[in-house]
Amino acid sequence: MGSRETEIYNLLNLVEDFLLDGFRHDHSPLAVNAAVDTAGDRDSPQPERSAGPAGPAGPAGREVSPQQALQTIAEEVAACTRCPLHRGRRHAVPGEGAAAPLVMVIGEGPGAEEDRCGRPFVGRAGQYLDRWLAAIGLDRTSGCFIGNIVKCRPPGNRDPLPEESAACLPYLERQIDILRPRAILTLGRIATQILCNRSEGIGKLRGSELEYRGIPLVPTYHPSAVLRNTDLRSAVWQDLKRLQALPVLAGRLGGPGQGGPEQGGDPSP
Ligand code: SF4
Repeated sequence: MGSRETEIYNLLNLVEDFLLDGFRHDHSPLAVNAAVDTAGDRDSPQPERSAGPAGPAGPAGREVSPQQALQTIAEEVAACTRCPLHRGRRHAVPGEGAAAPLVMVIGEGPGAEEDRCGRPFVGRAGQYLDRWLAAIGLDRTSGCFIGNIVKCRPPGNRDPLPEESAACLPYLERQIDILRPRAILTLGRIATQILCNRSEGIGKLRGSELEYRGIPLVPTYHPSAVLRNTDLRSAVWQDLKRLQALPVLAGRLGGPGQGGPEQGGDPSP
């Protein structure tokens, strides 16, 4: 604070005291930085992400960008033989999306279409998921990152075995550390149980307030399950609205009802 500003501030206080009752009063010291800080917060009701921990060190100690760190994981996954699922894969599916997502979407593992092309959620269930995301103002290239618990397809689309999930989980944990999403949307029982260390079915887990390492986590049904049983659609819509209403996402996703059943835009099959 400059002395000139202090003099003017004190002078104004004297004038104010004179006009008020003619006696001097105590005044708080001038704090010139407060306005700047407050203005900076006005459009950001939620705490902005700090620069966060330094990125992973690259060659010669250089920090690497989130994109580079994600690419490194993708290359490791493509060559991974940590569990037997590598034997049947055509392509590993590391995940894809924004490098600083609002929401990270996590399923259990790739299916046949995903194994064929190496991208997550590209089959019929994936197209359905795209509609869910669009209903809350997200798409897979901006605002969210889509990944899975296991990166290689379990044969016959069976559930990943516990040892397969355990072997693959470190990749997902590293991805979450790099991406630092504001919220996580889990699709189905397996992803929710593993990330939240719970054992209940998805019907019991959805609707609960859950988190993963301090990140709010909203569980919902897997799109494949909803395609098989359309009675689950309204539950999914409720879950998407819960995600949308999380304080960490307030005002950052599309408004409620921009595609939901109430507006006739039901993200239905
Ligand atoms: S599922 Fe995961 S741990 Fe298993 S081989 Fe694929 S990348 Fe490696």
